[in-house]
Amino acid sequence: MQLEEGRVIKAYNSFFYVQTNTDSELVACKLRGKFKKTRRSQGVVPGDKVLIGRLPDGTGVVEEQLPRESMLRRPAVANVTQVILTFAAAQPDLHPLLLNRFLVLAEWSGLKNILICVNKADLHDGDIAAFLNLYEQAGYRVLRVSAKEKQGMAELKEALAGETTVFAGPSGVGKSSLLNAIDDSLSLATGQVSDKIKRGKHTTRVAELLPYEQGFIVDTPGFSAMELGEIPLEELANFFPEFRPYLGKCRFAPCSHTHEPDCGVKTALAAGEISQERYEAYEAIYKEIQEAQQLKRKKE
Ligand code: GDP
Ligand code: ZN
Repeated sequence: MQLEEGRVIKAYNSFFYVQTNTDSELVACKLRGKFKKTRRSQGVVPGDKVLIGRLPDGTGVVEEQLPRESMLRRPAVANVTQVILTFAAAQPDLHPLLLNRFLVLAEWSGLKNILICVNKADLHDGDIAAFLNLYEQAGYRVLRVSAKEKQGMAELKEALAGETTVFAGPSGVGKSSLLNAIDDSLSLATGQVSDKIKRGKHTTRVAELLPYEQGFIVDTPGFSAMELGEIPLEELANFFPEFRPYLGKCRFAPCSHTHEPDCGVKTALAAGEISQERYEAYEAIYKEIQEAQQLKRKKE
């Protein structure tokens, strides 16, 4: 049988809806038995690239799952290429440690593009310009937008083109409003987002990919800042991109970069090559993960 490549856009009632290059509509597909969920594999999830065979009635069968480039777990979405970490300039105030936690989670998830988007630029934002500069120096792209005034939308839309994007960030910063401002046809989906969240965390949420400008926007938040406890402590420094050039320069290996002498990271900090603020965030997150893991060990 001739197999065709496609992308799983959503899963519903044991059907997987696949977008192919040749069909204008999604192809409803069943799975071959070998793809059933096991403890070790999540099975086929939205975002997966697959090969399908066609049946005479127009439906399809997923025959092969192609290798994944990335995987987000809660909710399960494969092949996300980009996260837009969304915060507000005010209401709620930008919380530096929270931003750093989200950045670490995004780095840990192995996403190719990590952008910071500061919404509510229409509100008075005090001194956040200097603060955001630190993150630009660390290598992150920062977008300043207002969903309300539709400021900065062109730049945001341009960033979305061709990528598979999740929005993440604290609640109330305007993620749903931004999706509405990007495209009216996405607004229906943002309504669904809040419904799904309201149903509580005991129901399994299923994500859906919304086609947008040769790419996709995932309709549920990519992750929450609460999942840090699973990050291996010894890998944490890697998730601060501006630390990376100094990680081979420590006298001890492994080095936690917190108390050891002749530490490359601390030398770079003293020389002003790493910002005090980012280093303190590293220390705080290091402690947080350490405590979470100690607590978990006690329970076991
Ligand atoms: P979400 O929880 O991140 O999805 O946030 P929402 O989109 O529900 O927005 C939270 C609140 O912020 C709502 O009352 C919005 O009207 C308001 N809001 C969203 N974007 C802006 C903005 O650009 N400027 C201002 N002033 N308020 C905004
Ligand atoms: Zn060190």
